[in-house]
Amino acid sequence: MSTRVIPLHDADRPQFPPPGLPVRAGARLVDTLGRPLRDLRISVTDRCNFRCSYCMPKQVFDKHHQFLPHDELLNFEEITRLARVFVGLGVEKLRITGGEPLLRRHIESLIDMLAQLRTPDGRELDLTLTTNGSVLAKKAAALKAAGLKRLTVSLDGLDDAVFQRMNDVGFPVATVLDGIRAALAAGLGPVKVNMVVQRGVNDDQILPMARHFREHFGQGAVLRFIEYMDVGTTNGWRMDQVLPSAEVQRRIAAEWPLVPLSASAPGETAERWAYADGGGEVGFISSVTQAFCGDCNRARVSTEGRLYTCLFAHRGHDLRGLLRGAEPVSDAQLASAVAGVWSGRADRYSQLRGTAAAATLPRVEMHYIGG
Ligand code: SAM
Repeated sequence: MSTRVIPLHDADRPQFPPPGLPVRAGARLVDTLGRPLRDLRISVTDRCNFRCSYCMPKQVFDKHHQFLPHDELLNFEEITRLARVFVGLGVEKLRITGGEPLLRRHIESLIDMLAQLRTPDGRELDLTLTTNGSVLAKKAAALKAAGLKRLTVSLDGLDDAVFQRMNDVGFPVATVLDGIRAALAAGLGPVKVNMVVQRGVNDDQILPMARHFREHFGQGAVLRFIEYMDVGTTNGWRMDQVLPSAEVQRRIAAEWPLVPLSASAPGETAERWAYADGGGEVGFISSVTQAFCGDCNRARVSTEGRLYTCLFAHRGHDLRGLLRGAEPVSDAQLASAVAGVWSGRADRYSQLRGTAAAATLPRVEMHYIGG
């Protein structure tokens, strides 16, 4: 039986701050905890060709599930306009995600449009994309030519039996590895490779993955281990399925000693380590066991244009309504509305996880808001 998953909507629109804040050029925008806005993740589709049990389980996202109709998605002009507004407010890094972003038709055209944007002081953006790698081998060169700077590829194991059980559509490891090689050949390296670790499901893949990426990719790939998170409400998350990063790191360091590296950017999600023998770099994203809300500078725009200020948010703010409203709004008005939301932001879910208040809130699904 199918359980319908309904994307969360503003219950009482327009509680979006209507006049917003007047935005002064060059003014420093921070939230209530002093965190600036630097990183914007844009979901370009809620569809995916995988059914990873921890993200879009087949029992829920079956043939009866209703994905968003095309005209409800932000179009490329709307996405680019919003991105320009966010860049004017301080965003320097744009990540395209989903769903599976490479399934969105003509995604290269969107990359081309976003690659033209510049920060107020004239710098290019750090323009990146997260993909499951399934069609990357075909698309890597076009993405690079369109202006994509780098890529993150998700891969949860090297053993086909384990990976296919997790993606639940029988997708082979070799095709994803071909995609990573194509990305490197196109000049999109170093490629970050994300592995979500679930205790008892794929933790036997930690050492084979580390060994493979050290031996075959070296400095060309950075393997990052992500703690299985309680995003959304459909994956049946349990704390006992989380393998803490400290344990993953202990297993790797027992085989190949590690030395710490400093963060390459403020608000970076991964703790970085290098193999002491020069075999490359690994990262650990400890979103469950070590909350990192303190310097979180990320905003997210969902597939149909809702602004979320936390991955674990229960409510979004309807930007599409402003873009498509009967009354045309200027970029300055959009900026003022976004600034109003950001300056009121107080989210710190990862730090509140486990409290009664956090447990009762509904949470948005990851494929909809983007990773
Ligand atoms: N389809 C793309 C992909 O596979 O990378 C982009 C979207 S996916 C939602 C983005 C990232 O979120 C992937 O690396 C995925 O493994 C991760 N992810 C999804 N659900 C997760 C969960 N419950 N805990 C940790 N990571 C999760």
